[in-house]
Amino acid sequence: MLSRFQRGPRAPRLVLGLFALALAAGCVASDVPPAPAPAAAARADAPAAKEKRIEAAPAAKPAAKASDVERVLALSFEDNRVQEHLRYLSKEIGPRLTGSKRYDRAAEWCRQQLAAWGLDARLEKWGEFPVAFDRGPSHGRIVAPVQQDLVFLTAAWTPGTNGPVRAAAVLEPQDEAGLDALKGKLAGAWFVRRSPRPEGKLRRAIDDACEAEGVAGFVSSARGELLVMAGNHTVKLDKLPKHVRVTLRVDQHKALVERLVQGEPVELEFDVKNEFAPGPVPCFNVVADLRGTEKPDEYVVVGGHLDSWDGAEGAQDNGTGVSTALEAARLLTAAGVQPKRTIRFVLFGGEEQGLFGSEAYVKDHEDLLAKTSVALIHDGGGTPLQGIAPDYRMFPDFEAVFAPLRASKTPFEFTVREVDALSNSGDSDHAPFLRAGVPAFFWEQSEDGYERVHHTQYDTFETVDPKSQEHSARVVAVAALGFANLDHLIDRGALQDQKPAPRRRMGVQLDGAKVTEVTPDGKAEKAGLQAGDLVLAIDGRTVKSQGEVVAELQRGGPKKTFRVQRGTAEVEVVLDYTGDSGELERAERARRKAEWLEAHPRPPPAK
Ligand SMILES: [Zn+2]
Repeated sequence: MLSRFQRGPRAPRLVLGLFALALAAGCVASDVPPAPAPAAAARADAPAAKEKRIEAAPAAKPAAKASDVERVLALSFEDNRVQEHLRYLSKEIGPRLTGSKRYDRAAEWCRQQLAAWGLDARLEKWGEFPVAFDRGPSHGRIVAPVQQDLVFLTAAWTPGTNGPVRAAAVLEPQDEAGLDALKGKLAGAWFVRRSPRPEGKLRRAIDDACEAEGVAGFVSSARGELLVMAGNHTVKLDKLPKHVRVTLRVDQHKALVERLVQGEPVELEFDVKNEFAPGPVPCFNVVADLRGTEKPDEYVVVGGHLDSWDGAEGAQDNGTGVSTALEAARLLTAAGVQPKRTIRFVLFGGEEQGLFGSEAYVKDHEDLLAKTSVALIHDGGGTPLQGIAPDYRMFPDFEAVFAPLRASKTPFEFTVREVDALSNSGDSDHAPFLRAGVPAFFWEQSEDGYERVHHTQYDTFETVDPKSQEHSARVVAVAALGFANLDHLIDRGALQDQKPAPRRRMGVQLDGAKVTEVTPDGKAEKAGLQAGDLVLAIDGRTVKSQGEVVAELQRGGPKKTFRVQRGTAEVEVVLDYTGDSGELERAERARRKAEWLEAHPRPPPAK
């Protein structure tokens, strides 16, 4: 999943242009062991074959003196198995495309694990996909004039080659004359498209010729080194895409085109095992409850999506989020905790195609939403969970819930960051909950290195740091227990302010906290800010980065006093937003906040 910190509108998840993939020398997830898929089991009521040995329920409860959370924390340091779960998901099962045998196998395995730990675990059907799609091992290589393995992808829900196809490579012409020269030579050839391709009439003529003569398939260039997987799940069995579409890593595509431009007779061989099967394919979420003792009909939802794209192992998107949920469930049951509220672990399907599993969950469990205190979604990769952003109404509760974690010797910092309004980036399974009025959170974590693995050929188990995963499983376990044991549901007053107040803008370019450019007629120019000014503080609060300047600008009243370093002097300028659109909304929210804090005085911060 694209990280929410990029905030850019995500490329639409549904049909992301057709790409194709298989790693050099047959790496894409090897053949599927014939374990009966749970859907098949569910469909055929056949008894599910036992997967990896499922541990028995944990031994007797440890000494009574330690509190529930202390026992959970202790266990999370002594015996943390999050990486075992991730290794099994990534290596034994592999990528889990919704509607594939691997997804079904993973769903059943997770259900069996959760059940073995004593949870009430089941598969909940949320819908169907028209066609099943499974990948087998795929290879591609140049076979003449040299031997070279190729790194490529084929998009999900696109055809394979039905065995190895060896054929001449033909380079896309650049003019009509070139096309005429190719007529009669396209049948069965691997058609190498240029990057960029010719446009307009010529492109149509080329496509028509390829169609008419029947090329073996198309070989195009990826944008770069990363092979970003995608695909269109809405294909129909009677109208499947016809052509094999190979997307080659950019450097290999460039070299191939160069050979062909030099007139070298190149032969390529691709063996792509992409398999379709008739639908409708039932699609499931995995749902498992650790039932509450005092308020069993009140819920804390914990989880993330189980499905992944199938370009590698789906380790960081989202094996990491699934394995922390599994380990949290195991730690809580192994520690023998008895939560007041029910802790519900949900592993969603269909997330990559459009949050289908979580949208359906929220719809199908509408009756439970009012009593769902929070939903916590882990889907930001393998970096440690390091924060969460409640609003001022929720802040004291969150501080209380995470205090034991922050007092523990966990190796990573964890911050409860107070915000004025919950933000809904819409890009993961927390979004449907927020839209339905349930306080839902996407854990905050650094996205260093995430772009390299996100939906790419590099999303493998080896890229995940065990220490950060163990920490993240600990965070999820402590959070689930903490929220389940609060004596009240989390205040959802914040949900009325979901739409963030219109942002204040300065009308400058910033490099860090330095003004590099001032837009004519902008707020800053009117106030007297100049290019070269280094912003030191806003309303007396020190700022050091662009993010801090922008965040500080949104706080408080409409008159913002900037203290800046200008040459050797320090000067003050005031940017005044009084009367601007959004300021009324801001003032109203600030009034509501002041009123609320007055009515709910905070306990003095713990020493
Ligand atoms: Zn994701």
